[in-house]
Parts: sequence; structure tokens; C-alpha cells
Amino acid sequence: MSEQKPYRVLLYYLYVPIENAEEFAAEHLAFCKELGLKGRILVGQEGINGTVSGTIEQTDEYMKTMKENPLFSKIVFKVDEADGHAFKKMHVRPRKEIVSLRLEDDIDPNVTTGKYLSPKEFHEAMKDEETVVIDARNDYEYDLGHFKGAVKPEIQNFRDLPDWIREHKEILEGKKILTYCTGGIRCEKFSGWLLKEGFEDVSQLHGGIVTYGKDPEVQGKDYEGQCYVFDERISVPVNHVNPEIVGRDHYTGEPCERYVNCANPDCNKQILCSEENEHKHLRGCTYECSASPRNRYVIENKLTSEEVKARLEAIKPAYQQ
Ligand SMILES: [Zn+2]
Repeated sequence: MSEQKPYRVLLYYLYVPIENAEEFAAEHLAFCKELGLKGRILVGQEGINGTVSGTIEQTDEYMKTMKENPLFSKIVFKVDEADGHAFKKMHVRPRKEIVSLRLEDDIDPNVTTGKYLSPKEFHEAMKDEETVVIDARNDYEYDLGHFKGAVKPEIQNFRDLPDWIREHKEILEGKKILTYCTGGIRCEKFSGWLLKEGFEDVSQLHGGIVTYGKDPEVQGKDYEGQCYVFDERISVPVNHVNPEIVGRDHYTGEPCERYVNCANPDCNKQILCSEENEHKHLRGCTYECSASPRNRYVIENKLTSEEVKARLEAIKPAYQQ
């Protein structure tokens, strides 16, 4: 047995009516700070959505207190061990929606949502030829890892998913639809929306990829690559049975699972790249970003204008092909 790590990251959500979300958010922030937690929590009239990090004692206390509150007794915490905090600060923010889909007719997952599948049921259902598996996350999340054969919507924001589906309806029509996301919260609404749109056979992976990777029986089987997470870890492993790297280096197309943000502050796009290529390209996602006068890589590494010029000259031919 490997030794238990000193910290934990908790991922959780619950769709439950919260009155006075603003007031609740302020009180909850004070409570989290008192415990010493760090993280990001969204609170709305429709529920709570959070990721927090802390020591074993701090996270134990948090889970216990939440479970004792009748409002949150149904919360399922997904617990990851960690070497340290996964956030720099603690935020609790009141929001209209705890995941932003911005529908004209909002979905209440407690009323309309797809059928919940356990990891084992999901894995079984994937094998059916009549099934189409659709990723409910953003393109950059998909690029780091996804279920084998899953459909990738070309979106950078969850709120763009309904339009993308309407434009690509034929992919889903007449099929058994399986949806999945990181922890399950996006699918609660997305699968409900699919039902409202007239798709009849809609199921969702209960607890998301994170739960799928922890299931003692399935152990992440047939998930390819890593799972993108919205904290300092950036990615977590999922598949403990037949893992594969699906991420590709932005510059060379070689297998890669290392994310960085483009060094041009006006771009900031997330790209996968090796350390070597990051240095070579001054961490720019395009030639223009590499050559940006505000390039953060140049500033961080205190490069002289001669050094910058030399590196730009070296990469220029690749962009001119
Ligand atoms: Zn860029």
C-alpha cells in the first residue's frame, strides 16, 4: 500500500434550491476560509458546484458539516489525494447558474434529466452498435482525453453546446445517446435538454469521468488519455486498465499531455506542448503570438531582443510552408 497523501481535492455539486444565494455565498466563504480550504465554489438558486482542496482534517470537517446540513445531505463528494493545495485562493461566488448553459427555457435536472448510468452500465452501453457517445465538455478538454470513439463537439464554452447539437442533429438522430462530462454536473442539464429537444433515448454517466476512473470494477477502462480538471493539477489519470496517450503536441503532433497557456496575454489559448517546444516557440500558439511584444515567456525568462529575434527566425520557416 502506498502512503496516503497529506492533502485532498474534493469535487462535488448538487442541484437543490438555495434561497438567498448571495447571503449563503458570503457565509459559506467565511466558513471555508475558517477551515483553511482553497478552491472555487459557485452558488445559485439552483444549487452548489465546487472544487476545494485542503488537508485531510480540513476536508473531513468540510464534508461532515455539509452532510449534516439537510439541504446538502445528498451531495456526493469525489475525493482525490493530493500533495498540496490545488488552488491559490478561496472563492465562493453567487451565480445565476452553477453551470452556464444560458437556455431560454432553463432545465431543472430534478425534473428533466437523462437516465443515470453507473460506470459499469455506461461501459456496457458503450459497446452497443446503436449507441452514440457524446462528450459534453469543451474541445480542449476532449483533446487531452476522452472515451474511445466519442463525438467531439467543436466548442470552447458549454453554453455553445445546444447550438452545436442543432447544427449536427444527424449524428444523434435515432441513436441511443450517452453523455458524459468531468463530474456529471454538465450532463444533468445537457441530457435534460436533449430530452426536451425530442431525443428519446438519453443516458448520462453518473458522477462523470472522475467517478468512472475510481470505480473498483471498471477502473477507467476504454477511456483514452487524461481527464482535464479546472484546478492547478490541470489533468488527472483515469484509465488504470488500458491507458493510452491521445494528447498531441501543438507544434509536432507527437504524443503529449502537458498543457500550457499561450504566452501572448491577448490570446492565452491552452495548448499541449513539450518543454522543449515551449522554449523553441517562446510559448506562442502562432507566429504572431510568439512575436507578440507582450509575450510573457520573454518577460519571465528575461530574454534579450537578440535572443528573441534568433528564436523567431528559427521558427519562421515552419510557418511559411
Ligand atoms: Zn496564442
